[in-house]
Amino acid sequence: MPDSKKRVQRLAASYLAIIMAMSLIFSGILYTVAAVQLSDPLPDRDDPRGQLFFSNEQRSRLGERTQQTRLSLIASLVLLNMSVLGFGAWFSLFLARRTLRPIEEAMDMQNQFISDASHELRTPLTALQAVNEVALRKKSLDDKKARAVLNKNIVEIERLHSLADALLELTKVEKSARTHETIELAPFLQSLVGELQGAASQKNIMLDLQIKAQSVIANRMALTQIITNLVDNAIKYSPEKTTVTIAAEQTKQDVIVRVSDQGIGLAKEDQVKIFDRFYRVDNARTDAAKSGYGLGLSIVKALCAKYGYILHLDSTLGKGSTFTVHLPLKGVE
Ligand code: ADP
Repeated sequence: MPDSKKRVQRLAASYLAIIMAMSLIFSGILYTVAAVQLSDPLPDRDDPRGQLFFSNEQRSRLGERTQQTRLSLIASLVLLNMSVLGFGAWFSLFLARRTLRPIEEAMDMQNQFISDASHELRTPLTALQAVNEVALRKKSLDDKKARAVLNKNIVEIERLHSLADALLELTKVEKSARTHETIELAPFLQSLVGELQGAASQKNIMLDLQIKAQSVIANRMALTQIITNLVDNAIKYSPEKTTVTIAAEQTKQDVIVRVSDQGIGLAKEDQVKIFDRFYRVDNARTDAAKSGYGLGLSIVKALCAKYGYILHLDSTLGKGSTFTVHLPLKGVE
């Protein structure tokens, strides 16, 4: 029997035990109260409680009726408990399934995540192993060849590093505190853009910063990560000599931060999937230089969900993409 079915049955059995225990206690109390009242003796002739007088025949008939009442009470309680058992079994199973479903789903997601992460880890590790084994098999390894092997090792180690960093970022999202502070947008965005300028310059991409909002109340760490990932992608998935625009503007309800590129864009069917962990649009369009792990946008999505920012994507294949983040004016409680 699969583990999940066993877990449901075990929990249902516990629920049923609780329901039955309560039903039996209730029946016991009901029976005791009724039995005490039924065994209350009839008043004697000289009893001050009333002038009622019962003949011996009436007394014996009443005794029989009391016995019958007691038996039919027991029968009713047995029937009640059997009905409770039947209904309780169905209800416990229903309740156990409902209780365990979200836990099972979370466990499935966790397992899927571990298996995807292991798969991603294996690729650079296999490459590292192959490069080193081939080098070792050679009879002699001159300085030039040794350096080439070491360089390949460093590339794969860097890949492993960035994967470990991305995985860590993902786990940090769960742990981070939901605090917020006032962030002055001009210095904040200028410093972020400054850090990404190197990557943009390598592709002759212009980073155009348009700030039309003064400040926002947000979590600094989250906003830094969100904008960095979006701008990093905009650079990665854009051809040379294009422009990536980072714009901030204020509306009545929120502050909007927009990252637009003139890059490869996304097909409709990919526009939802790209926010899934480890999802990357087909590799033919993403050459080695653009290689990643498909974790950047899932981090963005998780951060937006955690901090209550609304994320929106507008993209046209071959023309470019715009990612918009809506930040509530007062932050999120
Ligand atoms: P990574 O970039 O590391 O592969 P992401 O989660 O950041 O992972 O992105 C997932 C996929 O979404 C990318 O592989 C790419 O195919 C697509 N993508 C992300 N940003 C853009 C963009 N600005 N333009 C076009 N495609 C994009």
